[in-house]
Amino acid sequence: MASMALVIVMLLCATVQPVMAWGGLTHYSINREAGRNSTEELSAAIAPDVLHDFPYGICGLGAFVHEELPEVLYGPLGFFLCNFSVNESQKRWAAGWMTHTTADRSAHGTDLDGSPYLGDNNYISAVGADTLVEHIVAEIGGDILSYWLHEGTMPEYTVVYPDQVNDSFAEYDSYCKTEYSEDYDSDRYLEAFESFLAMIWVEQVVIDIKQDKRLQFTDWGFLVWAWRNYHKPYSRYYQCAIDNVTEVNCSQTYPQCCGQIYEQSTDCSGGSPVMSKVHQVEYTKIKVDVGRQLIDEGLMIPHREFDAETGAVTISFEQTVSDRRLVRAYKRHLEETYKERTGKQVKFLGDIPSRGKHVTVSEVKEDYPELYRKLIEKGVVPENRVDRGKVHKHR
Ligand SMILES: [Zn+2]
Repeated sequence: MASMALVIVMLLCATVQPVMAWGGLTHYSINREAGRNSTEELSAAIAPDVLHDFPYGICGLGAFVHEELPEVLYGPLGFFLCNFSVNESQKRWAAGWMTHTTADRSAHGTDLDGSPYLGDNNYISAVGADTLVEHIVAEIGGDILSYWLHEGTMPEYTVVYPDQVNDSFAEYDSYCKTEYSEDYDSDRYLEAFESFLAMIWVEQVVIDIKQDKRLQFTDWGFLVWAWRNYHKPYSRYYQCAIDNVTEVNCSQTYPQCCGQIYEQSTDCSGGSPVMSKVHQVEYTKIKVDVGRQLIDEGLMIPHREFDAETGAVTISFEQTVSDRRLVRAYKRHLEETYKERTGKQVKFLGDIPSRGKHVTVSEVKEDYPELYRKLIEKGVVPENRVDRGKVHKHR
């Protein structure tokens, strides 16, 4: 599976703009370890990214809500989401939204005055990811490490407040004389949210897929690869994100117009040179498309529960096929969607299983003792497990 994901990533990257933030599973993990583990805070931890699906406007809602200026900490919608919260649940959702933009700071940097992430001091610069290929691979690497070594699993239920987002755009507009709310649509947001969640679900399945029914045949190659290439910078900036996210608070927000700078710049990158590199639109659209197809095909069934009183929509999923079948469908849809969007035929399947080098637990123990210790700590590997497939490695 490791090489499958890498191949996909390599192929996707050729035609899209650079992108980098933390992946969905990493955002969940950061929030949990920062103690922001209410359902609302976890749910909203990925909420700003869903706006990348909106095709309208020159500047795109997704990039816009990610903007942070020194005066607009937590993004342009932060204040409005907090202040138009009508109950504690919405307030937590608003805080969760802000944990996203806050966590992203240590991933892709910022030029916020006095920020520790100025210049090259951020995850993406630290791993030397100058191209989109490297960016996305680094994002996946982070998700793998979050999944295996931290708390990076998808929550069982996701709460969405599409109307709260709508109201916030509207209030921002009336305060800043902009027209973002015209580009936003609650139904579409909800639908895109569902699709995006389906993709995070599948990514989790891809990361955790077993080579066999037994746990010890989990694809350690994937984990070892992520560990070897990313764990040092990842650990550092992941911890930074946790520290920053811990401090997120509605009471620290106040209304400011990001747009004055944002809208005047031709690349819609606002005052942040860092964000101009973060152009996630195309990749996110592909993700949302693929997620939608998996749902349409009935491989995953989303369940929506609408609370008319609060406007809360709770989404959960049911997987109707085996992990392997789901991953196969995911690969197929990714190829097709990729072709549709780029006009290029690519092959994601074929020799994948044979290319994924199988790594045994004893190899991990021998070659990466620190990783091995962490896996024991996490309970992924039982301490006194006898490794039946033990093969001594000569170097
Ligand atoms: Zn983001």
